[in-house]
Amino acid sequence: MLELFTEPEPLGYVRVAVERAVDAYPGGLVYGIPPSLADLAVGERVQVPLGRGGKLVAGTVVDRLSNLEDEGIPASAVKPIGARDEDMLPLPGELLQLAVWISAYYACPIGMTLANIVPSAVKRGTGRVSRTLLQPVPDAEPPARLGPKQRVALETIRGLPPESLPIEISELVTRAGLGSKAPVTRLIEHGLVEAERVSAVHAEWRAQAPLEDRDVQPTDDQSTAIKAIAEELDQGFSTHLLFGVTGAGKTEVYLRIMDTVLKAGRTAMLLVPEIALTPQTVGRVLARFPGTQAAVLHSGLTPAQRNHAWHAVATGEARLVVGARSALFAPVPDGELGIVIVDEEHDPSFKQDQAPRYNGRDAAIRRAQLAGCPVVLGSATPSLETWNNAQLGRARLHQLPRRAPGLSLPKVEIVDFAEERRQFGRDGVPGIRLIGPRLARAIQQTLADDGQVLLLLNRRGYANYIACADPRCGWVCSCEFCDAGMVCHQSGHLDDRHRWVRCHHCESEQRLPQTCPECGKKVTVFGQGTQRVEEEIRRLHPALAARDALVRVDSDTMRGTGSFEDVLGRFRTGETRLLCGTQMIAKGLDFPGVRLVGVINADTAINLPDFRSGERTFQLVAQVVGRCGRGESAGRAIIQTFQPDAPAIQRAAAHDYPGFADRELEDRRRFGLPPIRRMARILVRDPGETKAWTLAETIAERLESIAPEGEIEIRPPAACPIARVAGRYRIQLEVLGDSPAAVSRLLSSARSSGVFSGPLALGEAVAIDVDPTALL
Ligand code: ADP
Ligand code: ZN
Ligand code: ZN
Repeated sequence: MLELFTEPEPLGYVRVAVERAVDAYPGGLVYGIPPSLADLAVGERVQVPLGRGGKLVAGTVVDRLSNLEDEGIPASAVKPIGARDEDMLPLPGELLQLAVWISAYYACPIGMTLANIVPSAVKRGTGRVSRTLLQPVPDAEPPARLGPKQRVALETIRGLPPESLPIEISELVTRAGLGSKAPVTRLIEHGLVEAERVSAVHAEWRAQAPLEDRDVQPTDDQSTAIKAIAEELDQGFSTHLLFGVTGAGKTEVYLRIMDTVLKAGRTAMLLVPEIALTPQTVGRVLARFPGTQAAVLHSGLTPAQRNHAWHAVATGEARLVVGARSALFAPVPDGELGIVIVDEEHDPSFKQDQAPRYNGRDAAIRRAQLAGCPVVLGSATPSLETWNNAQLGRARLHQLPRRAPGLSLPKVEIVDFAEERRQFGRDGVPGIRLIGPRLARAIQQTLADDGQVLLLLNRRGYANYIACADPRCGWVCSCEFCDAGMVCHQSGHLDDRHRWVRCHHCESEQRLPQTCPECGKKVTVFGQGTQRVEEEIRRLHPALAARDALVRVDSDTMRGTGSFEDVLGRFRTGETRLLCGTQMIAKGLDFPGVRLVGVINADTAINLPDFRSGERTFQLVAQVVGRCGRGESAGRAIIQTFQPDAPAIQRAAAHDYPGFADRELEDRRRFGLPPIRRMARILVRDPGETKAWTLAETIAERLESIAPEGEIEIRPPAACPIARVAGRYRIQLEVLGDSPAAVSRLLSSARSSGVFSGPLALGEAVAIDVDPTALL
């Protein structure tokens, strides 16, 4: 207690978000400002004592308090801040406010949110180099007794021409021919030389190769959109939906708007789904602005590069920010952000699947709002959330209904695969293939005519069913730790293949059983996977395989950074003729040589127990179909499906997004689902099934007791569609509210009243997912 009396009076109080998962709702813990840190500012990184032992932990100053009384905390309970981090620039206020919003809206402790927002390379100062710069102090009288080495050092620095000053200490040591820094240090102590320490972050850059810039004349539709958005640039916050069919030239609209913003001396931010999957968009941006320093933020950066890019943005040097979801947290100085653009805004990868579970698109809208600038959301297949906002006038709609000049939308054919199979049987063709006769003929023809082909199957591996050959036995190979079937994978081709099975939920692996563990009969492998598509193509087109002109693209083959870029490079030169793969090949690619797109099975998502399955199916099919017909020759797309009448598939084939969206919104309204109502999903996970249920039921009861009448519906706990993953049972609780505010209010009162404490603390066992995008 003694130190309480010796402690000087604090100069004020601040709230600090410590980087621990303590849910100090709403915004951090209170600390005093010691006299040594009189100029402490909001956004600075500090060390504060935490807990009984007073161990120092890192945190960020999020707020200044006008007084302690309102907090209901006695002054004696407040500890002073330990130290500040001198090397890190304070977070801009706009970014800090964004963090506070994310923390509240997505129900994640503020410290954990900030820990996620600021890269660890920045906190650790990776790549930071400090230098000591020296200047002679004019007219300073040297003391009588100056050593000979000190005299040489003084004469050397005084003899330097002005353009060589200030000089770095090691440089002076060399020039004066000294063996050590000691004589120079003495001069500093005598006040004869002035020293300044500066530090900067250095990093080697391997800038992404910019593509060639195309000088295009905007079409009337593009011009209208550019003009309408550009007019809003100085008008504060506004939301825009750029809805343009695939190949309409949305990128050109982004580039022109970014150009206006950069010319006005402000910063432009472009978010793309996954940078590895969108090298083309990034390449085009870099090509358009060769003289502007760009911060390209992606997962392949080294820590030093990341720190460098962060500082380049924070100091205002880099005024072009391009990257995936987390680029949203680039520390653009307050008041400098001029535009935020979210390309392919519908893409599920904008949602982070661990805490804070934010949606990058929605956080981008918030960021623009805090910065007071427009946000542009672009897509050929907008999310229903955004489409609904446009319908309600919350977002301004700009349309590009036609493809860019000279390009037309592909002709799409739906193939009833069940019917094709029956025909197979009648014609006596043996075996069941993934590529039906119509698609096979089209591939043959396209390759013969020198066209390129994309084949989509959104399922990796070889085959997704492994079962006993005897249907009476009924054994199916499923994961020991998950309620899910194992997927067969293989390496090698045809003759010398090696097979094993893998779980796509927990990644556990084992050898492919040769015989059924129940009855000892043979095991059969059937179903679909990209490896099997590749195998069929190799069989059908051995010449293609021999030339390596065929490449499979999925997360199994594209592991290293840059591998996808290399594949795309070879596809661009025409060396590669056919790409088969998962949704990785469905995103944003623009290759004029692609004349055929084949969808092996359009139904992979359609029967999933998720209310967005129709939306996902529409997006996937429409996007991949949109990859062809981007050259002089017309494109053709063939969609194989067992559900040829499904509206999502029909409308995608007809290039009719509004028709699909309006009908889908009708359904969502009828069932009271997002985006009409807002959803939060509370997920409970525990190795014990009974325990998981008990926890979920407790949460449900506690929420019921604090939920206001009317505006909130709390659905009873239910097992998740995948009821067990990695040995933990999963129970979910859906909360639906009439407005985002209603859901937020409920969650915040639940957090502040301690619903999520003790065994229900947010973390491993209990997770809150606000606006969930996947419900499995
Ligand atoms: P989207 O992103 O809308 O699918 P892209 O931006 O990839 O479309 O544009 C498709 C192609 O059309 C690109 O190759 C682009 O260079 C070209 N393009 C865009 N605008 C024009 C234009 N006004 N005139 C000619 N070509 C254009
Ligand atoms: Zn598993
Ligand atoms: Zn069996």
